[in-house]
Amino acid sequence: MSKYIFVTGGVVSSVGKGVAVASIGTILKSRGISVSVMKLDPYLNVDPGTMSPYQHGEVFVTQDGAETDLDLGNYERFIDINLTQNSNITSGQIYSSVIAKERRGDFLGGTIQVVPHVTNEIKTRFKKLAETSKADVILIEVGGTVGDIEGLPFLEAIRQMRKDAGKDNVLYIHVTLLPYLQASQELKTKPTQHSVNELRRIGIQPDVIICRSDYPIPANIQDKISLFCDVDKEAVIPLETVSTVYEVPLVLEEHGIGKLIIERLSLSPQHDDLTEWRGMINRLKQPHEPVKICLVGKYVELTDSYYSVRESLKHAALFHDRELQLSWVQSEQLDKISDLEGCLRDAQGIIVPGGFGDRGIEGMINTVRYARERNIPYLGLCLGMQVMVIEFARQALKSNQPNSTEFNPKTQYPVIDIMLEQKTVATKGGTMRLGNYPCKLVPGTLAAKAYGVETIQERHRHRFELNNSYRQMLQEKGLVLSGLSPDGNLVEISEVKGHPWMLGCQFHPEFGSRPNRPHPLFRDFIGAAKNVLREGAQPALPLTT
Ligand code: GLN
Repeated sequence: MSKYIFVTGGVVSSVGKGVAVASIGTILKSRGISVSVMKLDPYLNVDPGTMSPYQHGEVFVTQDGAETDLDLGNYERFIDINLTQNSNITSGQIYSSVIAKERRGDFLGGTIQVVPHVTNEIKTRFKKLAETSKADVILIEVGGTVGDIEGLPFLEAIRQMRKDAGKDNVLYIHVTLLPYLQASQELKTKPTQHSVNELRRIGIQPDVIICRSDYPIPANIQDKISLFCDVDKEAVIPLETVSTVYEVPLVLEEHGIGKLIIERLSLSPQHDDLTEWRGMINRLKQPHEPVKICLVGKYVELTDSYYSVRESLKHAALFHDRELQLSWVQSEQLDKISDLEGCLRDAQGIIVPGGFGDRGIEGMINTVRYARERNIPYLGLCLGMQVMVIEFARQALKSNQPNSTEFNPKTQYPVIDIMLEQKTVATKGGTMRLGNYPCKLVPGTLAAKAYGVETIQERHRHRFELNNSYRQMLQEKGLVLSGLSPDGNLVEISEVKGHPWMLGCQFHPEFGSRPNRPHPLFRDFIGAAKNVLREGAQPALPLTT
């Protein structure tokens, strides 16, 4: 039977709960204890798939095609597991399911209430993850902050779990923030006390409190929290801000959280081995030569929109013993060709990630042209491949007309067009081509070299594709179609012949990268970029017109 660890957050949002949960997962896994993870999101959307990246950051796609919260990305990267749709529950899902049951007549005669109907539905999801994953420990993060109205049914459900699963099988961890007051030069515990009081009012007494802070936490502050919040002193875990999130498992371990969890939940560790993780952090902290990458996208004001892309670049840079220097450029800024040089002059590699809608598209197409003509390594992810094909077609056909029907439905040359299966799709949520699909690689291509295998599986999230009626023309002009769906119908990867490293993929490799196992495409992209000389080494040639 699985045991449960519930993690709540107090004081402020974005306190680093997701990373704390992921790190606890790393720590347990390092002891040979199997874990699965779940994120509970209190909002009423069924999933974040229809939300703007500005609202929510990246939408993380699981192998089975669920559009989920970006915290799942951290869970996968830290714990090195692949999660499924069972790992992200929203209030929207819970209420739709309860209401559908009511309409079906499942509760005939009854009044449907938050307790027990909604809370039962939530608990059913916990148990389903426990049954399907068969993990020793299920880590469950409650999104939002204690005190939020929407979060109450989730908190009530986790409270009930103490009785359902047995009190020795459930642990509550509360992550809070200790604000620092410059005037009195001290860390304050009062917000933590209030947030724990709020939890207790709901009926949850935390077993462990993780205190986030930008400054070292003195022992007397730990004592105070222990006293006021009724938590053992050893269970008040300080978590000072660190330079890289990947260090968090080591900090938590150093403060004894692993031992504490093992004891409280009577788990049987097989071994205790964070050696590989420690080695990775040591390498990460060494001084490295920089590799300068420029990311050109439309949501760059909120860099969390590209969370997994940024992490994948970091993993790949570490593999090559380089320090990632990532600059973010708003693609709308590059709508004019004259602005390209100023923004991209230093870039040793350029990346255009995924996106939707026509804003900033011309700037991305200009960026592709810059990378192609200047021989700068280029990696295009999903939309990044589509703009690469559009740019290639524009120069091949000597016309500025080629486009995607997503951006210009009346284009004369629809080189990117909506997929056949998508033409009849009318609703928005969860209806794209989502999740893992196989792709066959063409021998001798950059893609085949990177992966070193014949067939791959990658995660998708798109409605548009390369239009097959233009395949022949594009190939004749030097576009290499290096990855195709097994039936040959869909172009999954394309490359530019004669360019040192220019590759676009219709899928999202960023969801599969791990800190100590970079994704092959990111690895080879950084491998190509690291040797590129910029900064005056290249004459500022005007782009061809
Ligand atoms: N908007 C494009 C499509 O739907 C690209 C999607 C993406 O980049 N994820 O095909």
